[in-house]
Amino acid sequence: MDSRIGFGWDSHAFKPGVPLRIGGMTLEHTEGLAGHSDGDVLLHAITDALLGAVAAGDIGSFFPPGDPRWKDADSAIFLNLALEEIQHAGFGIVNVDTTLVLAAPKISPIAGEMRARVAELLNVEMDQVSIKAKTPEGLGLDHVAQAHAVVLLERVRDPEDLKSMSAVIQSQRELEDVVEDLLTQVHGVPKRREIVPAFDIEDIT
Ligand code: MG
Repeated sequence: MDSRIGFGWDSHAFKPGVPLRIGGMTLEHTEGLAGHSDGDVLLHAITDALLGAVAAGDIGSFFPPGDPRWKDADSAIFLNLALEEIQHAGFGIVNVDTTLVLAAPKISPIAGEMRARVAELLNVEMDQVSIKAKTPEGLGLDHVAQAHAVVLLERVRDPEDLKSMSAVIQSQRELEDVVEDLLTQVHGVPKRREIVPAFDIEDIT
């Protein structure tokens, strides 16, 4: 199979007293998003889309609820793990399309900057990343931010391309040890991945 599609969705409630992190950026706002990690709803949705595209589970199967290591964690760690997974499966990103649903703050003035940041985190060009935003009209969900993400992957033919993906991942030094540790754990366990039960619903990531 030469191409794969993946879908991810996430939601987090707004909460006072924490910084608002969306798309790997800190945004000016009166509230942030509640979560065990930094609550970056967009990076979580993209992470799930990437993992879904290669049928590698979901964010909760790699980062179990309540694990103290992920308290206030930078969600770029989760994204990086997903990149390792698609690389491991031999795929690269064609494009990523996302929609944020939130009442405030306004995303359109900073959407370009956010696309650039997400593209940087994914090691792709900015024109491979789309970030759209809508307000939750009629849903009564002004206290919640949601993100939807779709990714298209294609099989990487040239092993050199996979190497270059790896080089970028390696260069993110602050993430490297964590990712390596995780991969050892995840790939070290026999085939069956530990999936968090659906009824364990506290979305801590
Ligand atoms: Mg989440």
